[in-house]
Amino acid sequence: MTDCIFCRIANGDIPVEFVYESADAVAFNDINPQAPVHVLIVTKRHIATILEMSDTAPGLFGELLKASSAVARGKGIDESGFRLILNTNADGGQEVFHVHLHLLGGEPIGPLRAR
Ligand code: 5GP
Ligand code: ZN
Repeated sequence: MTDCIFCRIANGDIPVEFVYESADAVAFNDINPQAPVHVLIVTKRHIATILEMSDTAPGLFGELLKASSAVARGKGIDESGFRLILNTNADGGQEVFHVHLHLLGGEPIGPLRAR
């Protein structure tokens, strides 16, 4: 989708440094980081929400999980720990309607509602 910011980043239209890339996913730093490490893990394929992914391509979620572990290890925060967040629709706080995981770490992330 040409009007989707994460499609444009994933397909290279918008130059962004990837911290991870596989056949199905890319990862890059969030433009507005909420922690010392704040990486977005994005499918290359445009799927708007996890609801749609679970219906049409549930296996892709495994690719996001693999990417998450690779990013956490690559950033050296696998032992110290991290939080994965996946926002869905309005009440979930989803702003970009292209499935992505937030990976936050590098300091104690604190209570769930703090960010
Ligand atoms: P959501 O609220 O949809 O779960 O999260 C969207 C995230 O994308 C936000 O944390 C926001 O800072 C990030 N974001 C939005 N536009 C861009 C962009 O153009 N580049 C990068 N690197 N991050 C973006
Ligand atoms: Zn997209």
